[in-house]
Amino acid sequence: MDGLVPAIVQEADGGRVRMLGYMNQKALEATRESGFVTFFSRSKNRLWVKGETSGNRLHVVSIHDDCDNDAILILAEPEGPTCHKGPDSCFEIETAPHFLATLEAVIAERAEADPDSSYTARLMDKGVKRIAQKVGEEGVEAALAATAGDREELKNEAADLLYHLLVLLKASNLSLRDVTDELKRRHG
Ligand code: AMP
Ligand code: ZN
Ligand code: ZN
Ligand code: ZN
Repeated sequence: MDGLVPAIVQEADGGRVRMLGYMNQKALEATRESGFVTFFSRSKNRLWVKGETSGNRLHVVSIHDDCDNDAILILAEPEGPTCHKGPDSCFEIETAPHFLATLEAVIAERAEADPDSSYTARLMDKGVKRIAQKVGEEGVEAALAATAGDREELKNEAADLLYHLLVLLKASNLSLRDVTDELKRRHG
């Protein structure tokens, strides 16, 4: 590898892009050996372990070269936010699939909360049977809206259904990832 190559760091789970940095051969070796994303900082003019002062390190899950070896993609598990200005990602956009992952994380957080404090916590407290019943109801409501040709209502009911389905998965100790892995497997 000659000179500096751009390295994109993406969340291993959810796929959101966290940041872009540059790596030389030494940075890439340090990344491989330490298991923490290490760049060559052009401003510091030295190897820079992301998180070396903030603690917000990036644990390497896998490293991928691009088609012609002049860019690197790293899948990582981030510790805390990655942007030094505060947000999780240096790129403040949320794509549709990532929003589902965000919602899943919010549900996981609320699941532990006081039932008086949130609808999700109350639902989780009632248990799988009640949540499963809600999923059934929302599914029927979505189907009825579609049959009636009411697109606006279908949109609302589909949102209810997706939300309750995520709660049901959580209550059943399954993740969105388990479901997409199964879909990918069927896709072949
Ligand atoms: P850290 O590596 O998180 O300990 O941050 C150390 C310093 O590196 C910060 O003060 C910034 O100057 C720089 N830095 C950290 N994170 C980023 C980032 N995502 N993009 C650009 N510069 C960063
Ligand atoms: Zn390329
Ligand atoms: Zn940033
Ligand atoms: Zn509904």
